[in-house]
Amino acid sequence: MMHWSLSRQSSWVQLAGHQGNFQLSKGGEVLKLYSEGEAKCLDSLMRDPLRPFVPQYHGLVTRGDHCYIRLEDLLNGLRRPLIMDCKMGVRTYQEEELKVSTKPNLRGDMYQKMVKVDPSALSEEEHKCRGVTKWRYLQWRDMTTSTSTLGFRIEGLVMEDGSVQRDFRRIQTLAQVTEALLYFTRSHLQTLEAYHSRLLALGDALKNSTFFRKHEVIGSSLLFAHDHSKASVWMIDFGKTTPLPDSMELQHNVPWVEGSREDGYLIGLTSLIASLGQAINK
Ligand code: ATP
Ligand code: MG
Ligand code: MG
Repeated sequence: MMHWSLSRQSSWVQLAGHQGNFQLSKGGEVLKLYSEGEAKCLDSLMRDPLRPFVPQYHGLVTRGDHCYIRLEDLLNGLRRPLIMDCKMGVRTYQEEELKVSTKPNLRGDMYQKMVKVDPSALSEEEHKCRGVTKWRYLQWRDMTTSTSTLGFRIEGLVMEDGSVQRDFRRIQTLAQVTEALLYFTRSHLQTLEAYHSRLLALGDALKNSTFFRKHEVIGSSLLFAHDHSKASVWMIDFGKTTPLPDSMELQHNVPWVEGSREDGYLIGLTSLIASLGQAINK
């Protein structure tokens, strides 16, 4: 699923997602392939206390046969930026995906990805079929990364020379996250402090956000970006963020059990803040 890509033109670098989903645009904007759910989220976010923490949303535009969401380019103005994408939450699949995958539709591509990392994780039966269900794969990926324990995982980094590093997805402990943050920031204290205070401010905004209370936030990332003079973090990727029924609200800081729709977003935020705190004091 994940196509790591790097397209560099001015400062634009795409760290995750399918490359075809994005187009460069003039005037400090990026275009992301339209999805109704994501457009609705961005529209509400423009009227929420979270607005300063998301890319500004400028509506829709058609290019060729496709419709795109117009977003503020968060890398605009940064020179040779270092970028980190952290996928937030204690799970990265929707409960819906779990239901769909109860159909015994076996995926050979997902089997191959698992074999590459850890053949011993697969049962005899799975080896025989050379396939696994999507649900099995997604759950395995969340369990073998820090997603299920720390509430987020580092999807990848882009360093200042444009090289993409994605080995960090195997990280399991907070101490390893701290090491990764020190590497990413080159232990630069001001950068670490800027990230730390921005995440504390995000925590406050989340407390006051109606959007956050009323949405299940799955597969969304915090995008960290800094250069020699600036550092900031934003919430991105609302493709799998869904509104809750009228009577329902989420706490976001408790583990998920099937049917609760809890996403553990705040568990991840707390881990990241703690790790930045450790990095600052090293
Ligand atoms: P996936 O669901 O696989 O994570 P996606 O197609 O939903 O991918 P996003 O996660 O929204 O795409 O974005 C992919 C990457 O593009 C991000 O990791 C980031 O590097 C870059 N990106 C996305 N939005 C912006 C933005 N507004 N400004 C700058 N960079 C962005
Ligand atoms: Mg993403
Ligand atoms: Mg996405």
